[in-house]
Amino acid sequence: RYIAGNLYGGDNETRIQQEIVLGIGGIHALAAMNIHPAVCHMNEGHSAFLALERIRRLIVEKGLSFSDASEAAAAGNLFTTHTPVPAGFDLFPYDLMTKYFTQYASEALGIRFEELMDRGRRNQGDADEKFNMAVLAFRHARYVNGVSKLHGVVSRQMAQASFPDLPLDEVPVGSVTNGIHTASFTSSEMADLLTRHLGELSAENIADPDYWAKADAIPDAALWDTHCLRRHKMVEWAREYQVSRVVKRGGSEQEIDDARNILNPDILTVGFARRFATYKRGDLLLRDGERLLRMLNHAERPVQFVFAGKAHPKDDAGKQLIQHIVHFARQDSARRRLVFLEDYDIDMARYLTQGVDVWLNNPRRPMEASGTSGMKVIPNGGLNFSVLDGWWAEGYDPSVGWEIGRGEEYDDLGYQDYVEAQDIYETLERSIAPLFYDRDADGLPKGWIAKMKASMKKLAPVYTTERMVREYAETYYVPAARRAKRVDENDYALARALVEWKRKLRSRWHLSLIHI
Ligand SMILES: *Cc1c(COP(=O)(O)O)cnc(C)c1O
Repeated sequence: RYIAGNLYGGDNETRIQQEIVLGIGGIHALAAMNIHPAVCHMNEGHSAFLALERIRRLIVEKGLSFSDASEAAAAGNLFTTHTPVPAGFDLFPYDLMTKYFTQYASEALGIRFEELMDRGRRNQGDADEKFNMAVLAFRHARYVNGVSKLHGVVSRQMAQASFPDLPLDEVPVGSVTNGIHTASFTSSEMADLLTRHLGELSAENIADPDYWAKADAIPDAALWDTHCLRRHKMVEWAREYQVSRVVKRGGSEQEIDDARNILNPDILTVGFARRFATYKRGDLLLRDGERLLRMLNHAERPVQFVFAGKAHPKDDAGKQLIQHIVHFARQDSARRRLVFLEDYDIDMARYLTQGVDVWLNNPRRPMEASGTSGMKVIPNGGLNFSVLDGWWAEGYDPSVGWEIGRGEEYDDLGYQDYVEAQDIYETLERSIAPLFYDRDADGLPKGWIAKMKASMKKLAPVYTTERMVREYAETYYVPAARRAKRVDENDYALARALVEWKRKLRSRWHLSLIHI
């Protein structure tokens, strides 16, 4: 319990202990409950020690050699990677590995410690290389995927190091794009509206394009009123939240009064909430402060922004981004229209995604493996405005939202920030705000509402866990279970020989897709 008590803040030794508990302990715990999974899904490298424990069990239970057990275990392992940067993986130094795995290697697995180290090294035999949990996972999973199409491509490039003799498009890394748990993120008001006009928002319907296709049947006024109601609720909630914060830290009457008057429930509201990792560029919007202030205080078409987020306790650069925003929001001309909410959590995420008109995301492509917060606005009628990265690179088209840039990647990062910040201002001023404030005789923004419906119809059935889990099952869990069973029933040595033969064939003739 002590080991698992804190996710962050521990040192490397705490980390390895946690991952031993998770990976090896996890398999023990399942076995103690008499659960013997055919397939294990390693969600990021943190649980990858489970691969070793599965091998150990096959050696003990079936009397296999290490290499046969290794192949058999891998047949039933899926590895999902969530980051496009090698720096995002856990690395353990030699000494730490020696301390915890010397005995495990020789007694449990029957291999030399150096061999075990090699299972986690990109270059086998390189004594300077640390033990990399992603490499361990990758070597012991016959199925590997990234979390969006673009991230699948990036992960394939990273993984190619382990398959030097394969052409890039044959490196066996696929993708399953993330989704959100739609029922949890849809406001009750919007869920009621959907139920009235499309039928019940149930598990069967959520990923069904035919269900969402009926969104056109929702009367414009009803959709708009429901959405505006949630914007009002969000503003009310944000005011109470800020007031309670100011009171808690003993702020002045003036500060309490300021907090009571933040935001305007009737103007175009843009949300930006996420971890403040530097690649997400939380302060990009502030690049041209004067221009931003003009937008906030525009006489006919004002725009307001709600920011929220936390930085990793050790990420000083991330904390500086937050300071930059908080500092900017202190000036009188910004105070009411640009708000930073502390202590972002899932409850706050629900208020924001249910109430904003536009969700902004401006990561440095291709660093956002998927991103999910933007998906949360979809069933609530919010629209996305993002860099073509992660899920938005595949979800975007001009009928459902707005893009930042055109999917370029840059070497000169300062220049990229400049170009993309300009693009954000241009699109907000020339497209987004005019569309929002273009009202008909009944006060309805017809063009905007059409976009809300187009976004729901196209995106809601796709970016949901209902679709995602089904895709994992069909693409990976079922085939992996079959393969594990086949490997189990057949001669392990034969299976391994076939794999070896297939690898050689591939490298000589670049044959694609040979199945054993
Ligand atoms: C959805 C959510 C996230 C993840 O958002 P990303 O866009 O993937 O960065 C993080 N924290 C909370 C509280 C969330 O609700």
